[in-house]
Amino acid sequence: MKKLTLKPYRSIGPDEIAAVTRVMESGMLSGFYGSYGEQFLGGPEIRDLEREWSSFFGVKHAVTVNSAASGLLVALGSIGTGPGDEVIVPATTMSATAMAPLIYGAVPVFADINRDTYNICLATIEERITARTKAIIVVNLFGQPADLDAITRMARLHGIYVIEDNAQAIIAKEGDRFSGTVGDIGVFSLNYHKHIHSGEGGICCTNSDALCLRMQLIRNHGENLVDPMGIEDITNLVGFNLRMTEMTAAVARVQLKNVTKHVEARVYQATRLIAGLKNLPGVDPPMVKNGCSHSFYILAFRIDPAQFRGGVSRLAERLNECGFPCFTGYVKPLYTLPVFKRRIAIGQRGFPFNLSEVKYEEGLCPESEALRDSLLCFEPCAYELNDEELDSLVFIFREIHRELYIVKHA
Ligand SMILES: *Cc1c(COP(=O)(O)O)cnc(C)c1O
Repeated sequence: MKKLTLKPYRSIGPDEIAAVTRVMESGMLSGFYGSYGEQFLGGPEIRDLEREWSSFFGVKHAVTVNSAASGLLVALGSIGTGPGDEVIVPATTMSATAMAPLIYGAVPVFADINRDTYNICLATIEERITARTKAIIVVNLFGQPADLDAITRMARLHGIYVIEDNAQAIIAKEGDRFSGTVGDIGVFSLNYHKHIHSGEGGICCTNSDALCLRMQLIRNHGENLVDPMGIEDITNLVGFNLRMTEMTAAVARVQLKNVTKHVEARVYQATRLIAGLKNLPGVDPPMVKNGCSHSFYILAFRIDPAQFRGGVSRLAERLNECGFPCFTGYVKPLYTLPVFKRRIAIGQRGFPFNLSEVKYEEGLCPESEALRDSLLCFEPCAYELNDEELDSLVFIFREIHRELYIVKHA
């Protein structure tokens, strides 16, 4: 089989270049200053981006930061997370979701995922709530909203905050609400690999004035501001510098203008691949929940490893050899990382795990563990494909399926 070469997805065009040039020519590459006064909230591009972002997503506030990982940090800091607290997170997600609590001395508590959507499971969240639970970080994994309405209602009954890690699901919807706008805070990513990007970058959305201000303070040396602003509760206002630059904001503004176009092209690619690969034995396409839209950051097929010679790893290897780029390793349960197995995070003495009884062992999240050997992922955000190329990918997949599928005789 002739190996395909695929065109990479590049969303940066003349408008982004013009935006960067405009900022360069202004000479002001950052408008931030870490002390009381006008410049505490950044320069014109930052403020325009925040205004345009909150208006597009229908939320009161948007707070820009330099990454989604930083966004999770300011979000957890703003709600008052502290040593000994527990933060419930899904076992299957990108590692940043589970690292943010550690910086505030809190520990992540892993909930399992739903078998059909791979998103965090409401019932296992409820089982893990204790008197120490401060927040739930809900991840809208692969581009599909988690059960946002149900989880936020449940959390409210328990007095627990909900933070959405929406890095993978820009403009996905649950009902008529955008993911990233349902929880108390929603964190978006603008890193190079996401649907839209500015190289690096992150944005936190909230409808709360108080959380917005606290996130702004943590982003930008809050310790200097509390006195002149008359802020009494100085918890977690040891500030960082997590500020976005003017050029980054200028690029992000152009990307936001075209977000629908960029995401729809990714969804189109995923939809065409799914249609071409339906009814293949041993291969389950992703399920999209009723009433939800999926933005397909990752297109994940669930493979029955027992039905393929060499299992999912051989399948991935042959597909890659023939030009169908895919990977399998994304979805190890996070509690199998050394940081949790060895309980070493900050300093030598096991802080913050030494404040907690929370255990990290095999068997904790069976559905998450089952994905390890059964998920095959394709990245629609990495490629710009026409119909002919998409059909070639389908052809390759079907050929390799024929080659490795173990035919069962009746
Ligand atoms: C990409 C990603 C992040 C981190 O985003 P950065 O902007 O690179 O910090 C966090 N969570 C999830 C689920 C992601 O996919």
